[in-house]
Amino acid sequence: MFLIFLGAPGVGKGTQADIFAKELGIPHISTGDILREAVARGTELGLVAKGYMEKGELVPDEIVIGIIQERISEPDCKKGCIFDGFPRTVTQAAALDKVLAKSNKKIDYVINIEVDEEEIVRRLSGRRSCAKCGRIYHLLYSPPVKDGICNDCGGELYQRDDDREEVIRNRLRVYNQETVPLISYYRKKSVLRNVEGKNSVEEVTQEIERVLKTG
Ligand code: AMP
Repeated sequence: MFLIFLGAPGVGKGTQADIFAKELGIPHISTGDILREAVARGTELGLVAKGYMEKGELVPDEIVIGIIQERISEPDCKKGCIFDGFPRTVTQAAALDKVLAKSNKKIDYVINIEVDEEEIVRRLSGRRSCAKCGRIYHLLYSPPVKDGICNDCGGELYQRDDDREEVIRNRLRVYNQETVPLISYYRKKSVLRNVEGKNSVEEVTQEIERVLKTG
């Protein structure tokens, strides 16, 4: 099954994609994670991506499409995968359709998680991630037991550079301009399913499960 988790930054795409990747036994592919890893390792790709990411701008389509082409040709994606943070433009979506069609595959569902903008700013500005294991916390909604320290592995918690309020506002502007058109792109293909994202993680998971069961 090939799924796309669509929605503005901070709606919980990554959290839900992780849950469903485990449940369905398929990989969770986050272009944001792949790019952050490249930045951390200081690779050529990382050096290019860093400038865009710091400002909350999109990394150019041809770079991201190349990353995805390579990733989905790996054997673990044979039975499907969950895309999180990709596609983000109509050009990326059309390229993905083309790549999948080459092996007679297509997107089964696009889960569009909806949350209002002020709630998104609240969520993202309080988000902290573990530098060691990647677990995500929130200063208000799911704080760690010990300030600044991961409950699971004792790693240090940090704030993503692009989770500062002025960058968040720019990411939302870019989302509205570049990514929102994907909603009608996928609606026309009859694969779009809207899910209310303001509820708890468990409730959102249940709603997505219902969608996947009933279609
Ligand atoms: P994310 O973790 O999905 O919020 O992505 C973090 C940043 O990585 C974005 O603000 C972009 O700069 C870049 N990025 C991630 N995915 C894409 C994509 N599909 N297209 C272009 N840029 C992306």
